[in-house]
Amino acid sequence: MRVDIVPIGDVPASVKREASTGLRSIYDCDVTLAAEQPVPDGAYDSARGQYRASDFIDIATRAGTGEKAIALTPNDLYYRRRNYVFGLAYLDGRGCVVSTYRLQTSSDGGFSDRSSTQVFSDRVRKEVVHELGHTLGLEHCDNNRCAMSFSPTVQEVDRKEQTLCGSCQRAVF
Ligand SMILES: [Zn+2]
Ligand SMILES: [Zn+2]
Repeated sequence: MRVDIVPIGDVPASVKREASTGLRSIYDCDVTLAAEQPVPDGAYDSARGQYRASDFIDIATRAGTGEKAIALTPNDLYYRRRNYVFGLAYLDGRGCVVSTYRLQTSSDGGFSDRSSTQVFSDRVRKEVVHELGHTLGLEHCDNNRCAMSFSPTVQEVDRKEQTLCGSCQRAVF
């Protein structure tokens, strides 16, 4: 399987690298990098000051060339009534998106002695593994250590691992 990373907006090289490392280590896939795409003006909701996440999936699907395409963006995303999302994917879809905007917030609440840079990198890897998992048919997992557990806050992201639990692994491989 090849996964194409599609940067939307100005995504730092370190974020692309972490995403690539996370995907390769968990899914044993090839990862390629597509050209940077402009942030879609039409996706901006000025009342919310946020961007509609589904538009970013559309761009990933259009611009990405792999079996799967994952958009990375520094912009703040929302989906339906949720105040914000770290990412979005459709079950068994081809494209998905991860936003780093809310992953930078504060430290990990004392879970570890890792630096804020390390904590941020961990979160990026966990969230790309999570969203790609949805495109491979994985739903949310009850195991709160599993990368597929539902983690709407950074505290919950920090609590989980970047790896899939045994039953998620068996479902996808
Ligand atoms: Zn999810
Ligand atoms: Zn699991």
